[in-house]
Amino acid sequence: MSERVIDLRSDTVTLPSDAMRQAIFDAPLGDDVMGEDPSVKRLEAMAAERTGKEAAVLVASGTMSNLVAIMAQCARGEEAICGSEAHVFHYEVAGAAGVAGVQLRTGPNDARGRMATADVEAAIRGENVHWPRTALLCLENTHNRCSGAAISAEETDELAAIARGHGAAVHIDGARIFNAALAQGTTVARLAEAADTVGFCLSKGLGAPVGSVLCGPGGVIARARKARKMIGGGMRQAGIIAAAGVHALDHMVERLADDHANARALARGLAQLPMVEVDPELIDTNIVIAAVGDEIAFLRALYRAGVLAGTPRRGAVRFVTHYGITTADIDDALERIRGAVAAVA
Ligand SMILES: *Cc1c(COP(=O)(O)O)cnc(C)c1O
Repeated sequence: MSERVIDLRSDTVTLPSDAMRQAIFDAPLGDDVMGEDPSVKRLEAMAAERTGKEAAVLVASGTMSNLVAIMAQCARGEEAICGSEAHVFHYEVAGAAGVAGVQLRTGPNDARGRMATADVEAAIRGENVHWPRTALLCLENTHNRCSGAAISAEETDELAAIARGHGAAVHIDGARIFNAALAQGTTVARLAEAADTVGFCLSKGLGAPVGSVLCGPGGVIARARKARKMIGGGMRQAGIIAAAGVHALDHMVERLADDHANARALARGLAQLPMVEVDPELIDTNIVIAAVGDEIAFLRALYRAGVLAGTPRRGAVRFVTHYGITTADIDDALERIRGAVAAVA
């Protein structure tokens, strides 16, 4: 690997810009567990406003956002429904079960990250002495394991109405919901309108070093804040983190469109290669998942060519575009991948 490595493993690898570092340096600070950090308060107010919710709480990660959302809206021994490809089901160490005492029940996701209304309806429990109560429906937007698909407000409304009709609350794991809104020409508030709670990551495409924000009704967020404290997530001068988040919401949202264009261009180039299957028309945002046959051999060949990617499952590779990747990098990556594929073939 002579040239610079092109890192397409995840948008979590983004580093803070100089302006963001300056915002962190300049941040007014206080003890946030005592409710006295002005930068945290500012971020939480901004996040609540952007998502159209009453209140918000800064947490350490997207995983913690989902966990405290579950803890705030489910009792131990209750059940939460999510899609079969959901991040909360695959990648969060079974925290719902292990920490919150909540059982996750999955319904099928299609390849675009959607759940059918009939499947959600079927997964919700009625009253029976044998059954746990269905307390929560967890949706995901954009959908990580489904090529970053952006879910529409109407689809969310429809599924939320079913959950509501049965007395269950609705949470959106919106780790990349700013990508979803931008891709669909709508607002985050509209996408989250039918949900009780929505969490989003500051540390992915928005380019902040740490943090997520969970937003929702005041009472639910108060419970989430207490749950956060219970699991050790009460942070003191957290304005250091929040200042980066404020900067991100002010300056890093619109540029996500560049990541989307770069992902499309990457998918178009990949689609030309032998052994690689991907439909560029289905790339909504910044995640490209392609079928490649032997994914390990493919990733090794890419690695030798100085391109880093990941794999979500057997036979597939995943590329994520982000703030650290330019359009020229995409051309360069495609050139390297072409060479690597020729070497494998
Ligand atoms: C990244 C991600 C998370 C978890 O975020 P961390 O900050 O890595 O804990 C949760 N949900 C989705 C959909 C994600 O993509």
